[in-house]
Amino acid sequence: MGAGIGGLTAALALSARGHDVTLIERRTAFSEVGAGLQLSPNASRVLADLGLGPALRRAAGEPARVCIRGLASGRQIGEVALGRAMRERFGAPYWVIHRADLQTILLDAARGRPGIRLLVGRAVTGLSEDGAGVALTLESGSGRIETAAADLAVVADGVRSALRARLDRRRLRALYQAAWRATVPREAAPPALRGDETGLWLGPGRHVVHYPIAGGRTINLVAVMPEDGGSEEWGAPGDPSRLRAAFADAAPPLAALLGLPESWLVWSLVDRPAARPMARGRVALLGDSAHPVLPFLAQGAALAIEDAAVLAGALAGGQPVPAALARYAADRAERVRTIQAHARRNGRLYHAGALVSAARDAVMGRLGPARMTERYAWLYGWRPLGSA
Ligand SMILES: Cc1cc2nc3c(=O)[nH]c(=O)nc-3n(C[C@H](O)[C@H](O)[C@H](O)COP(=O)(O)OP(=O)(O)OC[C@H]3O[C@@H](n4cnc5c(N)ncnc54)[C@H](O)[C@@H]3O)c2cc1C
Repeated sequence: MGAGIGGLTAALALSARGHDVTLIERRTAFSEVGAGLQLSPNASRVLADLGLGPALRRAAGEPARVCIRGLASGRQIGEVALGRAMRERFGAPYWVIHRADLQTILLDAARGRPGIRLLVGRAVTGLSEDGAGVALTLESGSGRIETAAADLAVVADGVRSALRARLDRRRLRALYQAAWRATVPREAAPPALRGDETGLWLGPGRHVVHYPIAGGRTINLVAVMPEDGGSEEWGAPGDPSRLRAAFADAAPPLAALLGLPESWLVWSLVDRPAARPMARGRVALLGDSAHPVLPFLAQGAALAIEDAAVLAGALAGGQPVPAALARYAADRAERVRTIQAHARRNGRLYHAGALVSAARDAVMGRLGPARMTERYAWLYGWRPLGSA
């Protein structure tokens, strides 16, 4: 259940292994916000293996590098090699893509597979299980109730998952930081920031990421800054003047870029430990419902995509469903916790104050582009067990 990036990839991976899948989605329309997504080689490899490589290559960009700068000084701190360096080192590209383009590619692929039945406009409101299978209760917007039965249920209903509590009752924790997202036409950006690269600007308590998406026509902007309250609403409109005030000290080209969007959407950042366990009996959690990842490592969707590949592999071995799902949960446990921890640590490093940031900048500067990439070999070099 849930036709986000995780649910759609899981449906494709399971159907590729010969399973019949019913994908249940609460929304009626698949309008993704105008924002971008980074797809690192650990995820792009899985999607390419599902036959989506050509479509993704047409829609995605492949920036040559990440240029890391001081938010206020504008001084270059370090560089991470992407583009060809990533492909040659990890055998798969580091793509950046418009979320809507990725969603469309996944959805078109799912619609083209006879083994996948897509039920939209139905929220899963109940789930019960016995020795033989699972029974789901579905409710449409008009209040109509339906039931569906299956051998197993994959819960991929996102960070605010209603059904995760069946396996793990720990609550979401507000981070009191928010990610503001916007897009601007590339030709409107300051010339220094129009290049084919990802920009990462670090300052105390704040950072900004930008990269070109939509065939290079648009620049995707993400600015993370402190917030007081924390909103339940995911992607609420934000007041551009608040954003500009929070980044008033930004270096001139960054300030000019941040001044361009007329509208911003705001995501209050939340965290929660990975579910223990990620699966029990005939129910498995997948993606953000199992393990939300703070956006400081760009790995939330990537992990959901990895989950999908591992789940399909675990279910291919002919074991009884509960044993296969237990194998999936065991395979994922350490990796998802490690990545969650790295994302938290990156957040602390990105937003560090004077002392720690001086040490951070010195290390990044000394390492150089290739070694900065190599530090993440454990992350980007990942392959599902049993893959070539
Ligand atoms: C600012 C920001 C930047 C990010 N950047 C990156 C990045 O660069 N790279 C990256 O890999 N990740 C990134 N992420 C994370 C990424 O967006 C998420 O991790 C990813 O979308 C999770 O996918 P999912 O399928 O688990 O959940 P979702 O995409 O949230 O999908 C859940 C789906 O379930 C549906 N649903 C919910 N409840 C029900 C129900 N009861 N019944 C039926 N359907 C239901 C929802 O409508 C939705 O379609 C970022 C996140 C943020 C906030």
